[in-house]
This record gives sequence, C-alpha cells and structure tokens, in this order.
Amino acid sequence: MGLETALPVDGYLTTQLTRVVNWSRRSAVWPMPFATACCGIELMATASSRYDLSRFGAEVMRFSPRQADLLIVAGRVAVKMLPVLQRIYVQMTEPKWVISMGACASTGGVFDTYATVQGIDQFIPVDVYVPGCPPRPEMLIEGIMAIQRIIDEENIPRDPTTGKRLPLEIALNPTHEPRPQPVDVSVGAT
Ligand code: SF4
Repeated sequence: MGLETALPVDGYLTTQLTRVVNWSRRSAVWPMPFATACCGIELMATASSRYDLSRFGAEVMRFSPRQADLLIVAGRVAVKMLPVLQRIYVQMTEPKWVISMGACASTGGVFDTYATVQGIDQFIPVDVYVPGCPPRPEMLIEGIMAIQRIIDEENIPRDPTTGKRLPLEIALNPTHEPRPQPVDVSVGAT
C-alpha cells in the first residue's frame, strides 16, 4: 500500500505517523480524469477559478495513471472503451479511489443501448457516486470531500479472504434546491 506497511506494529508513534501520512494524502489527492462526454465539462469547471478545486488540494489533474490516486469517470463509457478504463484503473497505484460522476457513468443514463456500459461499477469498484446530469461542480466537490473523509478514517475495506479491494459505494444526495425558472414555462402559461 505504501509507507505505512513498513511501520512496526501499533504504538503511539506509529499512530501519529499514520495520521500524518493520511493528512498528506487527503490534502494532495491527484485525480485522473476519464472524461468522455458532457460531464467532463463540469469537471473542467470544477477546476476553474470560480469553483477552485485547489482549495481542497485536488486540482493537480494527472494524465498518467501511475501518478494519480483518484479516478473520476465523467460521462458515458462505450463498451469499446471499457478495456481502456479497466487498464487505467489497474495501472493506478494503491491506495486508490474511484468517483462515478453523473448518471451515465453510474447507470448508463438515458443511453440504454448495447453499446453503452450500464454502470461502471459492474467492472471496477466505485467508492462514491455523484448524482446529476450533469452534476454541478459543487456536487463533485462534495464527492471529493467524501473521498477525503474516507482517507482520514482509513476506511479502505478489503475482502478478508482474498485481500481484494472492496468498493465503498457511497451515494451522495443532492444538497441544493433547484432555483425557480426566471419565467413561467408551465403548459398553458400566457
Ligand atoms: S450524465 Fe448527462 S451530462 Fe453527464 S455525460 Fe451523461 S448525458 Fe452528459
């Protein structure tokens, strides 16, 4: 997993060092964007000055899986593209996390077709589902903060028999109320 595996058994110093390691990890999450469609635009907006993802230490987008620890899948994934996604996930180093951003990545969205993957969690473990079509940048930030909380709590579940990484499957709820339409667009409005 990393530095902490070389530490001796539990003790005061080990605990404090683990805290420092977790603090540095959660303060410097490096996302690997896998943006295939419109959700990718919101992902870009999240890193822009208006939303400023760097406030959370997660703005350093890496385009090499070996340098990233957070895979953000934003947009629909075609079946043809799936092996690429799986290879990227496998090539990322542990500990790693996955956010499924938007309806298409989580369920296939409106693309109920044979060519579109109907949820990436059938093929790679997903830790946080960010709802929306597309999710707003605030929602994605909420998802990244959920990952940071996981890192803080060292909540990385594994299968006790195989040691295989288990997905956390946290589904976020929308946290904002939709704003009223500026004009009445209801049927029959004059
Ligand atoms: S969830 Fe909506 S915005 Fe995101 S990729 Fe699918 S259609 Fe586009």
